[in-house]
Amino acid sequence: MESRVLVLGAGFAGLELATTLSEVLGADAGVTLIDANDSFVFGYSKLDVMFGRTSAESVRLPYSAIDKPGVRFARERITAIDPEARTVETDAGTHTAEHLVIALGADYDAAATPGLELGRNEFYSVPGAEHLAGVVPSFAEGNAVIGVCGAPYKCPPAPSEACLLLHDQLVASGTRGNCSITFVSPLGTPVPPSPATSEALLEAFAERDIEFLGGIRVAAVEPGAVALDDGREIPCDLFLGVPKHRAPDVVIESGMTEDGYVPVDSRTLATRHPNVWACGDVATVGVPKAGVFAEGAARVVAAAIIAAVREESADDLYEGRGSCYIEFGGGRVGRVDVDFLGGPQSTGVFQPPSDALVAEKVEFGSSRRARWF
Ligand SMILES: Cc1cc2nc3c(=O)[nH]c(=O)nc-3n(C[C@H](O)[C@H](O)[C@H](O)COP(=O)(O)OP(=O)(O)OC[C@H]3O[C@@H](n4cnc5c(N)ncnc54)[C@H](O)[C@@H]3O)c2cc1C
Repeated sequence: MESRVLVLGAGFAGLELATTLSEVLGADAGVTLIDANDSFVFGYSKLDVMFGRTSAESVRLPYSAIDKPGVRFARERITAIDPEARTVETDAGTHTAEHLVIALGADYDAAATPGLELGRNEFYSVPGAEHLAGVVPSFAEGNAVIGVCGAPYKCPPAPSEACLLLHDQLVASGTRGNCSITFVSPLGTPVPPSPATSEALLEAFAERDIEFLGGIRVAAVEPGAVALDDGREIPCDLFLGVPKHRAPDVVIESGMTEDGYVPVDSRTLATRHPNVWACGDVATVGVPKAGVFAEGAARVVAAAIIAAVREESADDLYEGRGSCYIEFGGGRVGRVDVDFLGGPQSTGVFQPPSDALVAEKVEFGSSRRARWF
């Protein structure tokens, strides 16, 4: 099948790209949007699922609701990508495109960490969060470890949020005094681009007796313990893990990756192949792996494709700016505003938790839901 624009992956990047192209080009957009799943789930919803605030079913946004001029959604699994020919094989056939965008996100490499099992002791997949929602309430005594198995990983603040929300849950069940909480992170501080955010999180950990072990990775999960990459072992009765990430196999097999991800021009998201872009978590852009950066990058790719269709020059450059909301526990939400490409050094400004930010986070999700679906 021939498309004007073939978008691989309907996550933050693919959904924003397809929506923008449809808004501007209407029925002429000629977008085929492919994803193996039947629905989209916001990353942060996985924390809500794990801590029993909602069910997995209620956070699924079905792709069948996408109804936009010039956009066709295809539920297919991509099995091969040829960036030279702009041809893609799926379990349903062959697609070719004038413009090809790889937005397949980051996958999880569970095999890199002995004892880590997808869908069981990690909260970065929906099945994992769902499984842990059944396990966390029965943890009433012992040592909990929130552990990261490799960097880079999606949404750097998410494991800090998991620590604070676990604390809340244990306080609510009256068992906090019987349990320890330790956070193991390969990052030296909770949010390295923003010292003020890191300081606020470290303060929140100290107030709640949560131990932070920074600059260390979880190397293996064992019965009753977690092995760290500095040779130490720490006791562990409940492991809430963040798996090591890597590009999906189909992207690695396409030969497009270097050091695990697809290299692109950070300002244009162009790959070395003409009319082929990569954006979001699958690409090496110089920004963290987060939805807010993926959608910003997708808007720049959309502008380039629109300019190409109109035979105009493309002027939009990606600025690497974005805001991430951080759950501080107790129903409080803070925000970090980061700028990765605007100056010689990345900067991150911290907005302390407030009621206004609780409402802003809700609006972040609902505005995208309304725009994309
Ligand atoms: C616990 C947690 C909390 C988070 N919190 C936040 C937050 O508060 N703010 C924020 O901005 N980000 C957050 N994130 C990160 C955010 O979810 C990701 O960075 C974002 O989804 C990346 O967007 P993407 O489009 O690059 O990839 P994705 O959204 O991962 O989309 C990739 C898509 O490609 C599809 N795909 C992959 N391989 C194939 C294949 N072979 N065939 C067909 N389809 C395929 C997948 O099904 C998927 O739908 C969080 C993540 C987690 C796990």
